[in-house]
Amino acid sequence: MHDARLMIAGGLVCAVGIYASFAIGHHAARATGRARTRWGLVSIIASGSTAWATHFIVLLSFKPGMPAAFEPALTAISLTCAIIGIGAGVSISIRARQRWQQFVAGLIVGIGVATLHYIGQAAYLVQGTVAWNLGLVVPSVILSLPISGLAMMAVGSRNRHIRLAAAPLLLLSIAVLHFCGMAAMTLDFDPAVKFPESAVSPLAITPVVAGVSLALIVLAVFGWRFDLAAKARLRQDRQRLRELADVALEGLLICQDDVIVTANDSIEFLSGHEPGSLSGLFASSLLPGLDVSGMPEREEREVNLISAEGKNVPVRVLRREVTLGHKIQTVIAVRDQRERLQTEAKMRLLAFTDSLTGLANRTRFFDLLALHTASRRERDRPCAVLMLDLDRFKAVNDTLGHTAGDIVLGMVADRLRSTLRGEDIIARLGGDEFAILQLATDENDAAFALATRIKEIIAARPFMLEGQAIHLGASVGIALAPDDGHDPAELMRNADLALYAAKASGRGTFRRYDISLDEQMRERRSIETGLRLALAEGQLELHYQPLADAKTGNITSAEALVRWNHPERGLVSPTDFIGIAEETGLIVPLGEWVIRTACAEAATWPETMSVAINLSPAQFRDRSLVSNIVEALQANHLAPERLELEVTEGVLLSDETGTLETLNQLRKLGVRVSMDDFGTGYSSLSYLRKFPFDKIKIDQSFVRQVPHDEESSAIVRAIITMAKCLGMSTTVEGVETTEQFDFSVAAGCDTIQGYLIGRPLDRTGLASLIATRGKAAHLPAAA
Ligand code: C2E
Ligand code: CA
Ligand code: CA
Repeated sequence: MHDARLMIAGGLVCAVGIYASFAIGHHAARATGRARTRWGLVSIIASGSTAWATHFIVLLSFKPGMPAAFEPALTAISLTCAIIGIGAGVSISIRARQRWQQFVAGLIVGIGVATLHYIGQAAYLVQGTVAWNLGLVVPSVILSLPISGLAMMAVGSRNRHIRLAAAPLLLLSIAVLHFCGMAAMTLDFDPAVKFPESAVSPLAITPVVAGVSLALIVLAVFGWRFDLAAKARLRQDRQRLRELADVALEGLLICQDDVIVTANDSIEFLSGHEPGSLSGLFASSLLPGLDVSGMPEREEREVNLISAEGKNVPVRVLRREVTLGHKIQTVIAVRDQRERLQTEAKMRLLAFTDSLTGLANRTRFFDLLALHTASRRERDRPCAVLMLDLDRFKAVNDTLGHTAGDIVLGMVADRLRSTLRGEDIIARLGGDEFAILQLATDENDAAFALATRIKEIIAARPFMLEGQAIHLGASVGIALAPDDGHDPAELMRNADLALYAAKASGRGTFRRYDISLDEQMRERRSIETGLRLALAEGQLELHYQPLADAKTGNITSAEALVRWNHPERGLVSPTDFIGIAEETGLIVPLGEWVIRTACAEAATWPETMSVAINLSPAQFRDRSLVSNIVEALQANHLAPERLELEVTEGVLLSDETGTLETLNQLRKLGVRVSMDDFGTGYSSLSYLRKFPFDKIKIDQSFVRQVPHDEESSAIVRAIITMAKCLGMSTTVEGVETTEQFDFSVAAGCDTIQGYLIGRPLDRTGLASLIATRGKAAHLPAAA
């Protein structure tokens, strides 16, 4: 019962009106301030008018088969309702953030349309009776409302494909309402029915509808122009952004939803894609595993970028939203992580390698050892930890400098590397200390064989540096797993103990750990702690051993020898604790005490007698040695000539320049300096040239064999002759027999020391010796 041409016109007006409303609505959304309100109102009126015009065109196309007319007041109300209802729905929809809010906005729009329809229907008068079928009216509303709800949800969607469905859905909702509504109406012609006076004929309302339709078409044109302008603006903004983006080092993707709109040069280069070929691709195909719109802003993520060749490139991405041409776009910044990851890997490697030699460092060695001992299978396989320490390396550092020392360490590392099998691991633990993890040692012999080989390759040939030959040796400590320890810390500790023992028992040897080393270590510790206490509690005392003049037999001096009066062990010999005191640095306070005590004691002796004090190499590293001596002399009014300092070769061996300076300073004071234990070292003569000693004390080991052993006798005689030539006096140490005494005197030495003259005595013992016998007790006929 409808006029088809008018129906089509109604559809067109509806479509044009919807387009105009949306286009003007978008324009309003892009605008600000009053323009926004103005265009918003226009959009609302346009949408209401669209619904109203569509409704009336369709109503006009309806041929009821009897005269019809419109009630103008109701007609006006229906238009108002349409504008209010639809306007309210649309304005809610603009602010709506959530989907359900969009849906509610759609429902309100639907209610507006339904009100318009049924009030409009009521304004439609026919010459007859109208009967309503509620069975169709109710479903028409119930069906059309959710459809318009869905339509508004589609409007708010970020996906443009879904957005395209909005207008057809709205159209469908209106159509459902209209056609069901019309079908629900049954008209019966009744000539008795009269139209009210106010009724307007359909012909009269036609120009109004046409006018509204025309206005909608004009608005649509406006909207279209706005749309075009906005699109041009967007293009321009994008172009500008792209130009900016191209100077960025980081890769930049500009996306609309998940689709890449623009990409800069950097990301094209990074991904290996042709220029311009990234546009139109899904961002997720380039960066799989990245939820472009779901990822929070300003939060960096590490993902892989798939390059054109299909390779994974590690990247870090950051998402930001920007408004381009009033449109929200996503910018994804992509930073190449390859270089950083490589640097990190390099740094990790550096952290575990010794930069000087390129060998593993202590941390890595420990980790590898831990790994090896931890795995069950490997635990059954024996392995050996060898620790080695270079002998005489300190001298290289001291005499040639640290740079030379570093070069030599590099050479040592090369030699060690060449002796190892591929499986074995070698590390530099620090200084001149190396460690080797020997794997698959079937029997202990393998570790010993390796230790021997190491000793040989270090000692066999000198290390050549700038034409200079440097002779080194190696001491090795061995711990075998699982016998000498299970965990890495235990194995390393025990290998270290063995190394310590190897060094103590003379350099250039190797030693395997055994349980007695633990005992020795405990002993050392107890001596160390005991010695600290001894110093604090005055358990130390000095004994004095007299020295006699070889010609007159008079006691000319006494050597101060320290004793430890231990509360449980009794008198402890210095040979048991001096070494430990030197290693732990306790020798410095101990030495100070000896200097003070010996000077104070010597001040009570006859003025013709001097006192001799032993000085350890470690004491020379103490800067206040000279001032301590000066203070002790002054405090006791002891003439410097009455003090003799005994030093061994060891003193000159280490840190020569500093030591020589100190010795010279002391000599300038008038203090005399003796070379002790002469003949036990290995290059004594060169040391004699370096410093003008006042006296040489010939070591006991020579005297023990005279006069029966020809060689020793010859050496003693030669040393005495040489000393005379150099203007130094001599003391023969350790004289126990008259035979030895006679020989020494005959050889021409100046003073004699030894049990024959007197054993070391405590201070009262020495005092009474001096008082009773100015001369030595057992002086032979010569005296
Ligand atoms: P030294 O300086 O060579 O001292 C001489 C050692 O030989 C002393 O042993 C002494 O008792 C011993 N002796 C002396 N005459 C004879 C003899 O006829 N026959 C034998 N068999 N031995 C003799 P002592 O007192 O046990 O001292 C050992 C070492 O301890 C000393 O050797 C010295 O190097 C060191 N020492 C002792 N007191 C001190 C000290 O106050 N400071 C430092 N730095 N070292 C000290
Ligand atoms: Ca001495
Ligand atoms: Ca000596």
